[in-house]
Amino acid sequence: MQIFYSKHHVLHNPQGIDIDGCPFVTEEIPERFDSILSGIQESQIGEIHEASDNGLAPILNVHDAGYLHYLQHAYQDNTTYYGKEKPVVPETFAIRTARRKPQSFFGKKGYYGFGIGSPIVEGTWEAAYWSAQCALSAANAVKKGAAASYALCRPPGHHAGADFYGGFCYLNNAAIAARALDGKIAILDIDYHHGNGTQEIFYADPNVLFCSLHAHPDDDYPFYWGSKEESGEAKGLGYNFNWPLPQGIRDLDYLQVLHEALEFILEYRANYLVISAGFDILEGDPSGGFLITIDGLAEIGKRIAALPIPTVIIQEGGYKIDKLGICAANFLIPFRDKQILTT
Ligand SMILES: [Zn+2]
Repeated sequence: MQIFYSKHHVLHNPQGIDIDGCPFVTEEIPERFDSILSGIQESQIGEIHEASDNGLAPILNVHDAGYLHYLQHAYQDNTTYYGKEKPVVPETFAIRTARRKPQSFFGKKGYYGFGIGSPIVEGTWEAAYWSAQCALSAANAVKKGAAASYALCRPPGHHAGADFYGGFCYLNNAAIAARALDGKIAILDIDYHHGNGTQEIFYADPNVLFCSLHAHPDDDYPFYWGSKEESGEAKGLGYNFNWPLPQGIRDLDYLQVLHEALEFILEYRANYLVISAGFDILEGDPSGGFLITIDGLAEIGKRIAALPIPTVIIQEGGYKIDKLGICAANFLIPFRDKQILTT
């Protein structure tokens, strides 16, 4: 299996930056990448490549041009405004009943961002751009005939919508990979948190089936999306499936729900499958609340890999740093020898 990464991920590191006199604390740190990469190397999952540059066009297939312009220039604009280097954090938020799109920089901060937990620092754009390029490189690998590929994306992407960011996510890597593929696409999001950005991007699109298993939005982030009733709209009605799960869910119950999702995906007859893989479902994850074991994660990987569909795996969350390598290895091993049998 082919694996793609980018060393540019280190350019995005908000840990400890000064926000109005306080050091910023986050779980989304570069060490996550190091842990995953070493786990993959030790377990010899596959060939590891640096992502290639596919340019901005495939990112524009998912994201709003004004939003991308904002992300690209926000740090510089903020620094110019304050006359000193300063990370971008919104002060106000545009509840989406707002009646106008803001022209001012201050207005844009709260229009494009939906939380304060994802500051934009000097290297955020470049890191997010290259994270998307990892996803595109992995999509290209399956387009060329690989049965499975993996993108070690950092920062993650599934909370980013066409024109909003939050939850550590700036560009939606899974959506960018899905749009780069041809035919019918199924996206399965197994991150602990609901993939609200991905859901919104494809909500009216019958050519992309979105299935998500996640913490119930009454219990955890992102709170405003992820209920069972959200089933798509217009032509996309009936192509969005959410399975909000209780806190403390264990392997067997989780696997039962996963089975249901995999049945939907098989029935949909997708040409390609994109997995938003978040390892924050692991027991003890500081950001999670499920009790999935390493063996459980291996079984989840095994069952997904058994589907006869070329599969692109996109890294999302996972914050138990010392266990991320073993999580990635156990989840990915079943994909290592995956083959698509043609009849
Ligand atoms: Zn997550």
